[in-house]
Amino acid sequence: MTPPRTATGPAVPKKRRGGRPGGGELLAAAVGAVPGGAARPGQQQMAEAIERSITSGEHLLVQAGTGTGKSLAYLAPALTVDGPVVVSTATLALQSQLVDHDLPRLADAVEPVLGRRPTFAVLKGRHHYLCLARLDSSVEAEPEDTLFDAPRPGATKWLGEAGRLGKQMQRLRDWAEETATGDRDELDPGVDDQVWRSVSMPARECVGATRCPFGQECFAEASRARAREADIVVTNHSLLAVDMLAGRHIVPPHKLLVVDEAHELADRVSSAAQAELEPQLIDRSTRRARPLLRPEVAERLTEAGDALAVGLAEAPAGRLTAGLPPALREACTLLDGATRAALEAIGDIKADDPDPVRKQQAKAALDELSTTAQRLLEEADHDVAWVEKPENGSRRALVVAPLSVAGTLATHLYDERTVVATSATLALGGRFDTVARALGLDAPPPAPPSPAAAALAATAAAGRAGTTSPVASTDGSRAATGTVPATEGPGWTSLDVGSPFDYARQGILYVAAHLPRPSVSGLPEAAGEELLALVGALGGRTLGLFSSRRAAQQAAELLRARTDLPVLLQGEEALPLLVRRFREERESCLFGVMSLWQGVDVPGDACQLVVIDRLPFPRPDEPLAAARAAAVDAGGGSGFAAVSVPIAAVRLAQGVGRLIRATGDRGVVAVLDSRLETARGYGPFLRRSLPPFWYTTRPDVARGALERLGKS
Ligand code: SF4
Repeated sequence: MTPPRTATGPAVPKKRRGGRPGGGELLAAAVGAVPGGAARPGQQQMAEAIERSITSGEHLLVQAGTGTGKSLAYLAPALTVDGPVVVSTATLALQSQLVDHDLPRLADAVEPVLGRRPTFAVLKGRHHYLCLARLDSSVEAEPEDTLFDAPRPGATKWLGEAGRLGKQMQRLRDWAEETATGDRDELDPGVDDQVWRSVSMPARECVGATRCPFGQECFAEASRARAREADIVVTNHSLLAVDMLAGRHIVPPHKLLVVDEAHELADRVSSAAQAELEPQLIDRSTRRARPLLRPEVAERLTEAGDALAVGLAEAPAGRLTAGLPPALREACTLLDGATRAALEAIGDIKADDPDPVRKQQAKAALDELSTTAQRLLEEADHDVAWVEKPENGSRRALVVAPLSVAGTLATHLYDERTVVATSATLALGGRFDTVARALGLDAPPPAPPSPAAAALAATAAAGRAGTTSPVASTDGSRAATGTVPATEGPGWTSLDVGSPFDYARQGILYVAAHLPRPSVSGLPEAAGEELLALVGALGGRTLGLFSSRRAAQQAAELLRARTDLPVLLQGEEALPLLVRRFREERESCLFGVMSLWQGVDVPGDACQLVVIDRLPFPRPDEPLAAARAAAVDAGGGSGFAAVSVPIAAVRLAQGVGRLIRATGDRGVVAVLDSRLETARGYGPFLRRSLPPFWYTTRPDVARGALERLGKS
C-alpha cells in the first residue's frame, strides 16, 4: 500500500483580529437561530475536533449518527478557514439539503457575528449545465446525435415519442432564454436524459472556453468562476474523483476538504476510474467522426465495433479471471489500431478551424475508446476486467476498473489539504481501521482500546444494562454495542460522536436465530412465515429490505395473498412515489432491494419495522468485490474477512439505520438471517457495526414489542 501522506500544512484559520469568532461561536449562532435550538453535545464535540484538525493539519474521521446535526458541525468551523473550503457529498439529496437549507440558514445566522455574509457555491460536472454550443448546433439536423439516433420498433410509437421529445426540446430552448445558471436541477419539470444529452457537454468533449464561440457566456465556466470566489464550495464525490484523477483543476485550490457520506467515497472514486467498451459507443463515435475521415478509416472503426459485438456475444458474463478471451483481445487490438488511425487523420484543432466544438467531440470520443482499448490490452494486475450482460439484454459491455483506489487516494487526496471524512457509518466492527485503509489512510494493526476508552465503554455498557426498552421486555435480551474508541494512524485520527438517539430505548434489533441458515436464492418458506408473523403483529408499517428482487417479489406476493395490508413493491411505480405512499398510507409496507437500503428517510410511525431477509454480502457475480477478495486470498489473507464482511457491514448499517430517524421514533429491526447471531467470526463484527439497539433473538419478545407498538 502506498504510504499514508500527511498534509503538508494545516488549513490556516482566519486570524482572530479584534476577537474574530471561532467555530464554537459560529455554531452557537447557527443553532441559536433555530427556534428552540441548542447545540447538541455530539455536534459540539465534532465541531471542536474539526477546529483542532484545522489547526494541526491532522486528517480526521468522524462517525456521527443520524440526528447529530453534522452538517452545521462542519460548516461552522469551515468558516474560520482562510480561502475556500470544499464539501463533497455522495448524493444529490444531501447536496440539495446543504445548498437549499443548511447553508442559507447558516449564512443568515452568522452574518451579524462574522460581520459579513459568507458565500457559497455549488460545483457540478460540466454535463449538468446547458451547453450553449450544443444548443446552437442542435438547431441543425444531427443524425449522429442522441435525440434521434435510437428509433424504436413501431413507427407510430416512435412518432409519438419524437413529438414528446420535440416538445421537451422546445421547452429547453425557452428555458435557455431565461435561466441564470443553466443548471439542469433548476429545470422544472425536467426533461428525459436523451434530450438533456443533446444539449449538454461531457467534460472530455468540451473544446475549452478560449476556443468555444460561447466561452464567454458558458454556464459551466460561470459556475467555476463563482466557486473560485466562494467561502464554501459544495461538490460531489464523482466530480472530486475526476478532478483528482485527471488533474482537471475544476475544484478550486483549498486547504480543507470535508467529505460527507464518506463511506461512499472509495466506490465513487472507483466508478470514476472505471472505463468500458460498448458496440453502441463505438458506433456513435464512428458516426460523429465519419465526416472528418476517409471512408476506409471510418470502416476500420466499424469493423472494430462489429468484432466487439461478436466477442461479447461469445463471452460469458462476469469477471475475466483468465485474461481477455481471444475474440475480445482481437476486438480491442482492432479498436486500438482504428482509433489511432482516426485520431491521426483528424489531427489537431487549429485556431481557424470552422467547427472546433464538433471536432473536439469527435476526437474526445475516439481518444477515450483508444485509451480504454489499450488499458484492457495491458491486463495490468491493478485492474479488473469483466463482461457485463444484464439479464434483460439491454446492453453488453467490456468493463475495466481499478482493483483498489486506496493508493490513488493516498497519493492524490491528503498531501495538499486537511481532510475531514464523516458519515454515520465509518467504524466497522467497532474500529475505524477498515475504513481508514479503504480511504488510503494507513492504519495500525488492531490493538486493544486504551484503558481510558475501555473504561468509557464499560461505563456506557453498564449504563445501558440498567435500562429497559419501552418496546421490549428485558428477559433474554441484552444491549448490543459500545462506544467506538478513537483510532489513530500517521497523520490522522478519529472520533465517534455517537448519536442523540437512545437506541437501546427506542429500538430492538431482533435476529431470528432459530431460522435455518439461508441457502437458496429467494425467500425461504420459514423466513416468509416469520415475516408474516412480525408484520401481522404490528399491522403493516414495514420497510422490507431484500437481498434480491426475487425475494422482494415473493414477500410482496405472500403478504398480498395472506393479509389485507397494502404492499408497495419497488419497480411497480417510481420510487419517490412509492416512498410518499409508504409515508402517507399508515398500514402500508414497502418492499424493495438495494437502493432502498440507503435512500429511504421516513421518520415517525409510518415505519416501525425494518425487515432484512439476509446479510448483504456482495454476491459472487459482483466482479469488483470478487476480484478484491481473490487478491487478498492470493496474498495469504482472507478475502472474505477483508472485503466481503466490511461491505456487508456498511450495507447492513445503512439498512438498519432506516428505522430510527428522529428522537420520537420507536421500532424493531428484524434480521431473518440467523448467521448474524450464530456466525462466530463475523457475527460479532457485524453487530458491532450497528447502532446500539436493544438486542434479542427471541421471537416472542420481538412480536410482543410490535403488538404493543401496533396498539399505541
Ligand atoms: S465552453 Fe464547453 S461547455 Fe461551455 S458552451 Fe463551449 S463547448 Fe459548451
